[in-house]
Amino acid sequence: MRQVAHFIDGRRQSVDGSRLGKVFDPNTGLTQAQVELGEASVVAAAVASARKAQPAWAAINPQRRARVLFEFKRLLERDMEPLAHLLASEHGKVISDAKGDIQRGLDVVEFACGIPHLLKGEYTEGAGPGIDVYSMRQPLGVVAGITPFNFPAMIPLWMLAPALACGNAFILKPSERDPSVPVRLAELLIEAGLPEGVLNVVQGDKVAVDAILDHPDIRAVSFVGSSDIAQYVYQKGAASGKRMQCMGGAKNHGIVLPDADLDQAVADIMGAAYGSAGERCMALPVVVPVGDKTAEALRPRLVAAAEALRVGVSTDAEAHFGPVVSAAHKARIEDYIQMGVDEGAELVLDGRGFSLQGSEGGYFLGPTLFDYVKPHMKSYQDEIFGPVLQMVRARTLDEAIQLPSRHAYGNGVAIFTRNGEAARDFASRVEVGMVGINVPIPVPVAYHSFGGWKRSGFGDLNQYGMDGVRFYTRVKTVTQKWPRGDVVTDQSFVIPTMS
Ligand code: NAD
Repeated sequence: MRQVAHFIDGRRQSVDGSRLGKVFDPNTGLTQAQVELGEASVVAAAVASARKAQPAWAAINPQRRARVLFEFKRLLERDMEPLAHLLASEHGKVISDAKGDIQRGLDVVEFACGIPHLLKGEYTEGAGPGIDVYSMRQPLGVVAGITPFNFPAMIPLWMLAPALACGNAFILKPSERDPSVPVRLAELLIEAGLPEGVLNVVQGDKVAVDAILDHPDIRAVSFVGSSDIAQYVYQKGAASGKRMQCMGGAKNHGIVLPDADLDQAVADIMGAAYGSAGERCMALPVVVPVGDKTAEALRPRLVAAAEALRVGVSTDAEAHFGPVVSAAHKARIEDYIQMGVDEGAELVLDGRGFSLQGSEGGYFLGPTLFDYVKPHMKSYQDEIFGPVLQMVRARTLDEAIQLPSRHAYGNGVAIFTRNGEAARDFASRVEVGMVGINVPIPVPVAYHSFGGWKRSGFGDLNQYGMDGVRFYTRVKTVTQKWPRGDVVTDQSFVIPTMS
């Protein structure tokens, strides 16, 4: 059986006698590979290799580092097709969506190609008599990223592209559920000219994560995953003095105002709620019609559109979404559907018991829709992360703003309306990090940055964009004065001022 190993010092490396995890094909339910689960010794080897390689990489001028990324971008484009197939076979998303996963990461690589410009510091001439002040951004050294299963290309690229561009060495610990694409990314970077050891991939689970958090030579850790683990990783890493940014789970709301173009809103909600089987942190699993008339007009449209969706294997070009990632995750989603029923919500469409002819062992669920979901229900408060859409009816715009604002998560939110004033008011007041106005999945473009509020994000700096550059560098500020020779300044015991 295929074995997925670590990637250290520029090549795949296996460790004899490793613990192994199973990598499934969610389309069939069959085990397609085994992944090595690294112990602390593997993390130590990866860090030692990175430490050795990093100073020379940082010493290369930024334009030359950018050239490696330019070439990497070209190779990603060259290999888009096989990468998308590999990704889909381990994750379960359909091929077109797998390409989107790679493309959104590629966008960040493209942004990182501008690193010579982005690393320019600031300079003040004449801040005082004969005094100039300048600041520069220097790499941190060895940094690490820990990533979730749901975007096995995009999220590693969110992190490693800016980290490498800034002159760091990077240790990637990808999800053990779909570990193959990250190794291919590392191989492509070597092909693009990245020196060996500057990017190492350690496969593994909690053991490897803890070893990363405990390692004294890792200066910063970026994490994306579920909120409880994000918080744990944040606290443990910060306690040992590391710079941390940890993105967590989500429960995003789509608010539909009475004046919205309902057909367009329904089309948008379908893709956002059920695309990738709902396994996106920017999915839209809650729809909030404002006013009963809006709800009554929306509901039959949602039912009709959801019933028309095609669930299929990843390689089915007609399918709107594929299986969920594992049998355990499928069972968890089914439990949440039952919980919604037990809590008194109305189950309008039930996706349980869905079976795909010829792929009976796959982890498929049909689209599920609930109405009359209430804020006190646990099935509303928790992230389900499956193809389940919950309708929560609101009477007023104010009530609709309160729902996402009071929710424990605050990743994304969308509003559908033709009313600019209402949309502006909503965007200003809602307590959520990323807002879409008639845009169902408002993942910011690569030159802005990505981050949620509340339990969706721990730490100050967002992913990618200028925040990525800030996260992976530290600022040094130099205040300089060159002696004139003819003027001797008196000694002073007062804190220097420029006045
Ligand atoms: P997860 O939290 O189970 O795993 C994320 C990473 O943490 C993996 O690399 C995993 O190996 C590691 N891990 C798992 N258990 C651990 C433990 N006990 N201690 C230390 N490390 C551990 O998340 P997942 O299921 O892979 O991904 C889905 C979650 O990620 C969802 O909650 C989703 O909303 C979230 N997510 C958030 C964003 C965002 O940017 N906010 C983006 C994508 C996904």
